[in-house]
Amino acid sequence: MGISIREEIEKREQEMLAEYATLSANSRGRAREEDDDPIRSCFMVDRDRVVHSKSFRRLKHKTQVFIAPPGDHYRSRLTHTLEVNQIAKTIGAGLNLNMDLIEAIALAHDLGHTPFAHAGEQILDHLVDTGFKHNQNSIRVLTRVEQHRKGRGLNLSWEVLDGVIHHSGYDSSDEVASTLEGQVIRLSDKIAYVQHDIDDSIRAGLLVLEELPQEYLDVLGYTHSNRIATLVTDTIMHTRNIVGQGMGLVVRPSPEIDQALKGLRKFMFEVIYNGPVCQAERARAAFIVEHLFKYYRKHPDKMSPFYLEIAEEEGLDQAVIDYISGMTDEYCIESFLEIYVPRSLVPEAKKSLDNNEY
Ligand code: MG
Repeated sequence: MGISIREEIEKREQEMLAEYATLSANSRGRAREEDDDPIRSCFMVDRDRVVHSKSFRRLKHKTQVFIAPPGDHYRSRLTHTLEVNQIAKTIGAGLNLNMDLIEAIALAHDLGHTPFAHAGEQILDHLVDTGFKHNQNSIRVLTRVEQHRKGRGLNLSWEVLDGVIHHSGYDSSDEVASTLEGQVIRLSDKIAYVQHDIDDSIRAGLLVLEELPQEYLDVLGYTHSNRIATLVTDTIMHTRNIVGQGMGLVVRPSPEIDQALKGLRKFMFEVIYNGPVCQAERARAAFIVEHLFKYYRKHPDKMSPFYLEIAEEEGLDQAVIDYISGMTDEYCIESFLEIYVPRSLVPEAKKSLDNNEY
């Protein structure tokens, strides 16, 4: 009897990937044991489960930065996710890492984002004693809310969950993922959003290129694609250097480039993310989320039936958090209109509300 295609793939990984890459055959495994797939490695299976999940499809109607923007060319949480995936795969190819693991983490990393992005995250964090963080909620979605063969969660490999929980933050004091693939996602997320949010802010008329700090553009480049190319190339070369010299296993750009990315990110926080336009929109979004939270706390039977089971087992707060955080911006707004706004004032309802499926 010959070996299976999956075993061929595992063998190929062993022969061809870098010595510091994560081999699928060496995975620490899943919470519930499963038979191996005859064709796909465990990380390929994980990636496919993420893509086929409802939470993944909902990313298309979740905010990146600008809430329900009127144009077709603004990023959504879905296109952000795809940009992170692309950037991460180029870095992964440059470092000869496990591309399937990179892709699984990239596509899963933001599944726990709320409607209205950070506005939703902040208000939910404020509303429950246990707090709310989107990266922890991504784990919650992957291990409890989504289902695989009627079991709880998608039962993904340990390395994917480790990469997802460690994707946020950018301080040197933060704990980082155990795999280099996970570390690539954390950096690629920053590379992607700082650059595409600059692009979208210019598109929205909130920023002109000349306002960006010149010192950082001098280092990174003057166009969107130049800046990404600089960041990606430098990260590959610098990380190869560190690893080659036996200075530890860590994915990072060189200090000069790192400073420029951090500088641009800080500028974006001051001027855009925490600037007057986003703040005003955020207050409106928070109002909606807060009122929905209070409503479903009072009327749990109005949630989809699935969340009532969670309420019984894990308490009402958790169930309402799971329900609301899973909503798209649109579903959230429609629910708010349906509950709080007189019928005569609501333009013809779009009725994406399908309570049984949600
Ligand atoms: Mg992200």
